Amino acid sequence: MNQALGIIVDYFFPSDCAACGKPVTAFDGGLCDDCAADIHPPRDACPRCGGQIVDGKCVICSDRAWYPDRCFAVAEYSGAMKALLRNYKFQKRRKLHGKIAKIVHEAVCSASLEVDVVTAVPMGRAKVKKRGFNQSELVACAVAQKIGREYRRLLKEAGKARTQKDLNFLDRFLNVIGRYEILEADLRNARVLLIDDVFTTGATINECARLLKSAGAGEVYAVAFARRTLYEEMQDTMGDMP
Ligand SMILES: [Zn+2]
Ligand SMILES: [Zn+2]
Repeated sequence: MNQALGIIVDYFFPSDCAACGKPVTAFDGGLCDDCAADIHPPRDACPRCGGQIVDGKCVICSDRAWYPDRCFAVAEYSGAMKALLRNYKFQKRRKLHGKIAKIVHEAVCSASLEVDVVTAVPMGRAKVKKRGFNQSELVACAVAQKIGREYRRLLKEAGKARTQKDLNFLDRFLNVIGRYEILEADLRNARVLLIDDVFTTGATINECARLLKSAGAGEVYAVAFARRTLYEEMQDTMGDMP
């Protein structure tokens, strides 16, 4: 956005920082500088899956077939990032996808990922209708544009899927089997960037990566906006809107 346009947009559409509520300009993308500086990469992240290392062992990918070639979350699901995502998803502040895409794009660049095509974890039609958008897809499209690569829907949700929310760690890995379908039969060795919103057990990302690999993807790089533990998710869900 150029400066003159930004001033006009600010005048007609002033907004508040999604995390602290301070007034922000259109250039800030809905998050003030202080809150943006409060977003940090997850601690104790496993180099293979981005999960948490506890007592020298990864709680996510140890003793498991793990399909992504690289996988990480951009930030912890706490503080400003948590507020940003909650506003984006539950308050339906769709415009915040631009700020999240900027943060994800920076992480993709720092990780020096070479990508041919960008895709997102799919969302069932009913949920998209309810929320108005697939939060991962909106960001993935914007990231694709920033890196000059094509966004393609490579996966879809198959039929009625049971939500992961009320399931424990192991059941989630079983529940995702058959949950998604691949939309392109031959990915011709493409290096795929797969975008997801919140990384909890890694079950969804792992299953999507498995399908992409089975359809011929050369590499799958999975990037989530934020990481939280199952315990944190349970605590959040109690106060969450659906
Ligand atoms: Zn703020
Ligand atoms: Zn791991």
